[in-house]
Amino acid sequence: MAQKTVGFIGLGIMGFPMARHILEAGYPLIGYDIRPEPVEALAALGAQKGTSPKDVAARSDVVITMLPDSPDVEAVALGPEGILEGARPGTIYVDMSTISPTVAVRVAEAGRAKGVRVLDAPVSGGDIGAQRGTLSIMVGGDEATFQEMLPIFQTMGSRITLCGGNGAGQIVKTCNQILVGAAILGVAEALVLGAKAGVDPAKIVDVLLGGVARCGILENRGSRIVQRDFQPGFKARLHYKDMRIALAAGQDYGVPMVVSPLVHEMLKRMVLAGYGEWDHSGMVRVLEEWAGVEVRAFGT
Ligand code: NAD
Repeated sequence: MAQKTVGFIGLGIMGFPMARHILEAGYPLIGYDIRPEPVEALAALGAQKGTSPKDVAARSDVVITMLPDSPDVEAVALGPEGILEGARPGTIYVDMSTISPTVAVRVAEAGRAKGVRVLDAPVSGGDIGAQRGTLSIMVGGDEATFQEMLPIFQTMGSRITLCGGNGAGQIVKTCNQILVGAAILGVAEALVLGAKAGVDPAKIVDVLLGGVARCGILENRGSRIVQRDFQPGFKARLHYKDMRIALAAGQDYGVPMVVSPLVHEMLKRMVLAGYGEWDHSGMVRVLEEWAGVEVRAFGT
């Protein structure tokens, strides 16, 4: 059987390497982004170029989006010249962006009305996981469509889980973002304290990685923080968006939230201070300003 043709919309920090993995696995791929540079770069690797979400959908069996936020997904999927205008009945549409679970359900319903099968499939693992093809992919939708998509998911990720019906993937991703935000805040506070007390922050990272405080954030970001490398990674303004989703979920489901509002305010402060394009680990900068110290490895 011929390989499915995959359309990929949103070729940023995450989308570009994810699309490249699908292409390298042998799937015909059509790339599209509002920025021409990544579309050209993907074409140089053998992809075809799309001219609009509608055009991509009309030429694809599977359409994947990896866009910043809920309004972007709504516009690209449901808007004029959007995916649902171009898709044929039976097309699979998978949104892998991190967006509101309620918007994910609305998009799935709009798709169903046109015979398009929709999954939400947000990811965790960051830019490094996207480049290595080792993302954790959390999926919401029906089992049959999930099984049909599995070989394509396997080109991008190593842990792929059907979490429940439409929207369930986004709920699990919200849980993920709460934990990641809490971990960054904890790492930042610990390093600011250690630095102000006069200990080399690089040593603190090294020691903590050998004990029970070891975590993904310390592993991925610890040495980058003490080397003052705040290139994204994951942009603070996108994590701020995720914490807004978390707070809304707390309201919707009647769950008191303690950690999420703190992380939300820290990210808000980052964005207001002009650090929105920095990696989210730059949260340490806010604590540094309050404490009057910089977390920097000795000798750098
Ligand atoms: P990014 O800003 O690097 O990429 C987004 C891309 O979408 C850009 O290339 C942009 O030009 C394109 N785009 C925006 N509007 C568009 C439109 N209307 N049509 C076509 N293209 C459009 O962001 P990213 O870091 O790749 O994140 C994408 C999504 O993945 C976000 O929802 C983010 O929360 C989530 N995410 C990011 C990470 C990470 O570590 N970077 C990890 C997990 C999940």
